[in-house]
Amino acid sequence: MVAKMSITGPRGTYDILPDESRKWQWLEGLLRETAELYGFREIRTPVFEHTELFQRGVGETTDIVQKEMYTFADKARRSLTLRPEGTASCARAFIQHQIYNQPQPVKWYYLGPMFRYDRPQAGRYRQFHQFGAEVFGSNNPFVDAELIVMMVDMVFKAGLPQYDLRLNSVGCETCRPSYRQALVSFLQPIKKELCQDCRKRIELNPLRVLDCKNQGCREAVTGLPRVADYWCNDCRQHFTAVTQSLDRYEVSYTVDDRLVRGLDYYTNTAFELLVPGIGAQNAIGGGGRYNHLVREVGGPDVPGIGFAIGLERLLSGVEEAGALPVFSPDIEVYIAVTGREYEASADQALRELRRAGLKADRDYMGRSLKAQMRQADRLQVPVVVLIGEDEATRGTYTIRRMQTKEQYEIGQADLIDEVRKILVK
Ligand SMILES: [Zn+2]
Ligand SMILES: [Zn+2]
Repeated sequence: MVAKMSITGPRGTYDILPDESRKWQWLEGLLRETAELYGFREIRTPVFEHTELFQRGVGETTDIVQKEMYTFADKARRSLTLRPEGTASCARAFIQHQIYNQPQPVKWYYLGPMFRYDRPQAGRYRQFHQFGAEVFGSNNPFVDAELIVMMVDMVFKAGLPQYDLRLNSVGCETCRPSYRQALVSFLQPIKKELCQDCRKRIELNPLRVLDCKNQGCREAVTGLPRVADYWCNDCRQHFTAVTQSLDRYEVSYTVDDRLVRGLDYYTNTAFELLVPGIGAQNAIGGGGRYNHLVREVGGPDVPGIGFAIGLERLLSGVEEAGALPVFSPDIEVYIAVTGREYEASADQALRELRRAGLKADRDYMGRSLKAQMRQADRLQVPVVVLIGEDEATRGTYTIRRMQTKEQYEIGQADLIDEVRKILVK
């Protein structure tokens, strides 16, 4: 017989096996708890949407929409796309459920897989995970500051106290056209020095030339006009208020005038959080204000701001920094028996332990007592309950504390109290 070819997961995806999922649960729990401290509530949207939502809500000229979307036709030939990010879906849900009629602002967070057809490389996946937060309905600069502070707080709580927060303002509908014009005038004469992509960007989306990673482009654009010189009064005041609020929170930042978001619905505040010392890909996440996004995807003119954190990057940063917490053992009590005839008693003890909220397990492989103890060791179980002939006749259990190797007998009725005493819980 010819063996069937084994099937592996698709390129750019990975499995989170139980040893790893422990870390994810911890990180996700921390993010949820922190978001809730700041008054955010969770939204869960579908992982696929109508393609048009992302064309409008992420932007036709972005790399995401042009090159990286998982787009497919369903059986009714509708064009659907696996979500490449979370903000557009939040805006769509905000409009669809007329959340703008509720008291504002609305503070949402989400957590889940995103999909981009990117070239897989170290630390980059086609299915990856993001935590994101969005605030709709307020243009108050204190909202911007609060959101940034929350992001810093999350990374701090994850065990990364060093951070480099980059901050800028991309202007607004009033002042950005003149900045855009200034950029185009600056870039046109040096067009030949720019990469292919940037040559196209001059017309389509000149702000994006600023964050091109190409070395030639980086050199060519030194000395280009600064957005801050073009801010209108409102934009200047908004930015000042954000920085003053950050100062009061004692959150430090660097103003980075190359930090831009090219699309027209992005306005004012833009920010990015980097963590030094965790390798080349040290940008943990970023975000900004998008006062015209809701309008862009078909809703009323409601302001908004949000950020997203890449969870793969954050988690690997935490691991690299050695900041992972010590996790409690998966199994707290292991029942070992000297023979199969005591399996029923083992079940009885298991039921009692689990009812009391203790994580308990036993052997199902007919292992010898010695092998059961080895298994308990492998599982790093702190307490083993031994059941054999003596225990069965006397109505007792033998307790073995795995750390001290101490062993003693207790009455069956004392099981829960004894185990709790050992675990101190
Ligand atoms: Zn402005
Ligand atoms: Zn370029």
